Amino acid sequence: MSEERAQDGEAVVRAVEAVAERIETERAHLTDLDSAIGDADHGGNMARGWAAAAEAARELDDPDPQTVCKTVGKTLMAEVGGASGPLFGGSLVFASADLDDGVTAESAVAFAETYLQKVEDRGDARVGDQTMVDALTPAVHTFKKSIETDDLAPLEALAKAVDAAERGVAFTVPIRARKGRASYLGWRSVGHQDPGATSTLFILEEVLATAADALGTDVPDVDATSPTIPDADGDSVEGDGADPAAEDDD
Ligand code: ADP
Ligand code: MG
Repeated sequence: MSEERAQDGEAVVRAVEAVAERIETERAHLTDLDSAIGDADHGGNMARGWAAAAEAARELDDPDPQTVCKTVGKTLMAEVGGASGPLFGGSLVFASADLDDGVTAESAVAFAETYLQKVEDRGDARVGDQTMVDALTPAVHTFKKSIETDDLAPLEALAKAVDAAERGVAFTVPIRARKGRASYLGWRSVGHQDPGATSTLFILEEVLATAADALGTDVPDVDATSPTIPDADGDSVEGDGADPAAEDDD
């Protein structure tokens, strides 16, 4: 394995450790959010899963980024449980295939797109259903556009993605849940922040902080531009051939 790939693998392990720490810190917060519109287990589910994932990642010998992601995904699938375990874990296992040749701007975009696609396939939620998809979708689309269209450096693109996810989380508050346990509440879910969108934001924030650290730089300040979001069908990515009606979105 190249020295660069080994260093990237170590950085991914550090990112997983940072996520595990952050989720543990936010455990009560996530539980509170889930107790309002769910069954109060999201903090515990995620803290247990990410602690086990960090341990599994640490135990790998000379890990490359793909192996770390796959290991973390499998551990999350086994340990998180609930609706969110297979969504976070299974999607990560699938997306890890895109890191076959290591982490580059291109492979990171592919990874992000596959991850979102798998969450959508498994959970059948789209933007506006008050789920993790509301944080993930603007983050992934903003990341892709920042790299492919705006030609930003990957770290800056990631910072933009985190900013978009933050606004996606805020967007979950005034809307009604249409997927997952919170949807059983109908209109009573309005006014509540989605737990899974919130934990998704925490994960992205820690990945950004670790990436900046690995590059020996600060987290870049980004302008709060409009996040890139797809149309109502969620099919926005240029050139994916999914839906001709999605061509004019941005
Ligand atoms: P459970 O709902 O089984 O108790 P968790 O509490 O761990 O599982 O996770 C709840 C979160 O999972 C929600 O806040 C939401 O973001 C996410 N979620 C639930 N169902 C779906 C779905 N069908 N698609 C996408 N995300 C979902
Ligand atoms: Mg729950």
